[in-house]
Amino acid sequence: MRYLILGSGPAAIAAAKSARNLDGKAEVLIATEEHAAPYLRPCLPDLVSGEMELSAFADPQAKDLPGLRIEVRGGKRARRVDAAKNRVAFSDGSEETYNFLLVATGGRPILPLSLMGAPGSFLFLNSLGDARRVRERAMRSDTTVVYGPGYLGIEAARALRHIGLQVAWVNPGLPRFGNPISGDVEARVTEQLRGKGVKVVEGTEIADVLDVDGRTYSVVTAGGEEIRCSLIVVATERLPNIGFLEGSGVKAGAGVLVDEYLRTNVSNIYAAGDCAEVYDINRRESRINFGWRSAIKQGQLAGENMAGGGKVYIRNTEDYFGLLYGSPLPDRAGS
Ligand SMILES: Cc1cc2nc3c(=O)[nH]c(=O)nc-3n(C[C@H](O)[C@H](O)[C@H](O)COP(=O)(O)OP(=O)(O)OC[C@H]3O[C@@H](n4cnc5c(N)ncnc54)[C@H](O)[C@@H]3O)c2cc1C
Repeated sequence: MRYLILGSGPAAIAAAKSARNLDGKAEVLIATEEHAAPYLRPCLPDLVSGEMELSAFADPQAKDLPGLRIEVRGGKRARRVDAAKNRVAFSDGSEETYNFLLVATGGRPILPLSLMGAPGSFLFLNSLGDARRVRERAMRSDTTVVYGPGYLGIEAARALRHIGLQVAWVNPGLPRFGNPISGDVEARVTEQLRGKGVKVVEGTEIADVLDVDGRTYSVVTAGGEEIRCSLIVVATERLPNIGFLEGSGVKAGAGVLVDEYLRTNVSNIYAAGDCAEVYDINRRESRINFGWRSAIKQGQLAGENMAGGGKVYIRNTEDYFGLLYGSPLPDRAGS
């Protein structure tokens, strides 16, 4: 039996380990676009702020993979899935076959149209590489604009302010996907950020970005306000990374559509984590349950079910941001 798992986030690692647990003889291969070893994505703001060293970033879930004979191959971005031939083509020109495939490719932040005309002005905060770039550029900057709703916007603003930058947080409002953090918590944390000197610009979009001199940018909000900065950090919601499934016959909505066993409409292809739109049997609806713990839970279940587990996924709200990785948000923003 050969299990091929796409992605190296928490869903992928949990799935690989639970498939191995039930199927000791199988070949289990994780193929990921990342070059870095699996890491703690929720702690990226702490790398930007300097509160955490790079050496502390390894995902503890992944430390026993070699002992479990689970291979991780990096630098492999899935480009196309041929479901009829049980084969995945990668952007490095290679191909891998499988008996069972798990799509655990997570999400990627949305880029607002208004930023597309000023490519040098912004950086994302989504991957380890992004966080290193943001930190490096922030150390040479004095003023930054953070764009993004809710938790991710708050965390990016907090981290940049921590290293002494002037920060303006443009918060467009409620995230359109996933569960937003509670209004009370957001209001409290926003006040804490204000208290630390972060300028909060709420309920508006970035309408335009003008390159002033190749180092300074003028951010124009939909409300007509103009903010000068040397860097824009895009901390927007993450949309599922599933473009490579086009033409495969695997059905997708906003994410890969899976049933309560995390199985797609193609019986030997499963999906888990932030890329999956999971059927919630209690609410009788499909939804994406973003979040680190949710990804681990889904990954474990998908791995078991690929190996014949037959278990039903039951969502509970704590799987989302109710239980944050690390310390709770108000404690972080207030520290
Ligand atoms: C800055 C930040 C802070 C966060 N903080 C928290 C928090 O405090 N609490 C919380 O619960 N959640 C937090 N999250 C969200 C959390 O990180 C995600 O919910 C979680 O990582 C989802 O896990 P996953 O395994 O589904 O996907 P991911 O962790 O996104 O992993 C997907 C992997 O697939 C790879 N990949 C993508 N496309 C391909 C492809 N075509 N081929 C091969 N590989 C591919 C990606 O490079 C990535 O390594 C945060 C996210 C960010 C960006």
